[in-house]
Amino acid sequence: MRTGTETIVALATPPGVGALAIVRLSGDGVREMTERLLGRKLQWVPQRAFFVRLREGEREIDDAVMTFWEGPRSYTGEDVLEICVHGNPKIVEQVIAAYLRQGARLALPGEFTRRALQAGKLGLTQVEGLGDLFSASTERELANARSLLRGDLAKEMEAMREKLIEVLAQLEAYIDFPEEDIDPPTYGMMRERLNAVIERVERLLAGAKMGRVVRDGISAVIVGRPNVGKSSLFNLLLQERRAIVSHRPGTTRDVIDAECVIGDIRMRLLDTAGIREEADEIEAEGISRTKEAWDQAQLILHVMAADEDPELDKIVTAQLKLRPDQRLLRVLNKTDLEWHPRRTYPDYQHEFDCRISVAKHEGIESLGEKIKEIFISSQAAEASTLCLVNARQTVCLENAKGFLSRAILGLEEKWPPEIISHEMRAALSEVDELLGVTDHEEVLDRIFSQFCIGK
Ligand code: GDP
Repeated sequence: MRTGTETIVALATPPGVGALAIVRLSGDGVREMTERLLGRKLQWVPQRAFFVRLREGEREIDDAVMTFWEGPRSYTGEDVLEICVHGNPKIVEQVIAAYLRQGARLALPGEFTRRALQAGKLGLTQVEGLGDLFSASTERELANARSLLRGDLAKEMEAMREKLIEVLAQLEAYIDFPEEDIDPPTYGMMRERLNAVIERVERLLAGAKMGRVVRDGISAVIVGRPNVGKSSLFNLLLQERRAIVSHRPGTTRDVIDAECVIGDIRMRLLDTAGIREEADEIEAEGISRTKEAWDQAQLILHVMAADEDPELDKIVTAQLKLRPDQRLLRVLNKTDLEWHPRRTYPDYQHEFDCRISVAKHEGIESLGEKIKEIFISSQAAEASTLCLVNARQTVCLENAKGFLSRAILGLEEKWPPEIISHEMRAALSEVDELLGVTDHEEVLDRIFSQFCIGK
């Protein structure tokens, strides 16, 4: 979708009232349009802010500070103008309308960045990093977005691409000279090189799982007997009273969910009905929903109360049938109260993973640390780099791995070099797709559809 150097305009700051608002323009007509609006020539010194009484002919718009970037040394590679005005939506509307009347058009979502990509200012994975940078809500997401934006993943993939091309060139030499057989040491060397590439692919794929946790967060469900403090914990984690907290057993009848960040992981938290034997009908409905919520959750927080007999927890434990992909964290709450004598017996000492007191706000941080340990630290060792690949990149890497495995098999079983080369070319094209070298419109459309206007 190359739109040439048509001049585009959009608000670059959030809509609404604010101290300032920035309208951004990019394209060939930036200077001329501005001069026509002001009715005079301007001195265009790049990268220096200058003051202008912005007007459209006789009509005053606002006092503005403009910053001009001359193409190709700009974000989009074209002439770019940022106009900083007072943050009133009416003023912004007037600025944009004035430029539209001069022949500019409204930018499409992500169009500034798309132009940057087309001008070679950013690579595709960097664009994805930029998208992530805007949506990041945890430190970890931000760090990963910055790494992508810096081009860490792109560099890693380019190194892989080089290696593949080296082996491919070697292989194709034999295709060009069919009278020569590939000698065994060459076979061995090619295999070794491809194995090294596959290892790198696998390391990146190990980061994909962690990437999902970092990007999408996890869903966790709080379960436990009535009155152990499930709703209190839920509320504390959310720092607001979303669930009903009550002394009567069985009042949290439905499943309530909300999002929070704990241990630097975005978590969709589900608060559920308590489990007890003598439930009435409405409660029974709530309990069946609890079981549904259990099913969806990746993390089950089983809350117990320190002042209660640990034998009672067994009612819940008996119903906790975990799938292999679900993790359980046993949380002992109300540690501020006098513990039930049995809790202190050696046999019951290992019945919980962390102790907290919601009432005293104690142990919540270490609960976060435990969650982080389960979902991030345990995988961090496997994922060698900071790059946590996203779903699109994962598909490319998995495909590349498949083609490379077949190429290696081909080398082992001495398939004709043409066939091995075919597999390697397929792997290479996956790497190219990941890097955006192949410029598939569809892929670009999908990525940019998540951007908002003005970016
Ligand atoms: P739920 O039925 O498991 O959701 O339990 P609630 O969150 O409604 O809490 C039941 C009662 O225990 C309420 O009176 C809470 O104030 C109280 N509670 C919750 N956490 C603690 C705690 O850490 N210490 C003490 N002493 N009381 C708590």
